[in-house]
Amino acid sequence: MLPCQRKTRSQTRRGRANKGLRAPGFTRCPNCGSVRRHHTACPDCLYVPPRGPRQNGFILEHLVSED
Ligand SMILES: [Zn+2]
Repeated sequence: MLPCQRKTRSQTRRGRANKGLRAPGFTRCPNCGSVRRHHTACPDCLYVPPRGPRQNGFILEHLVSED
């Protein structure tokens, strides 16, 4: 769909002013406790968080079939 009305130059620039670079999120490694970036391997212990279906933050291992 197209926008109903053309945005003014100041509206466009006001919106784009919020699209700048942001600091990446940081979290603690569950394996060794050091600080690492989200969605990356831990720089200290090279721990990679497991992926899969989650419920309340926990991996549902019994749902993963092993054939
Ligand atoms: Zn670690």
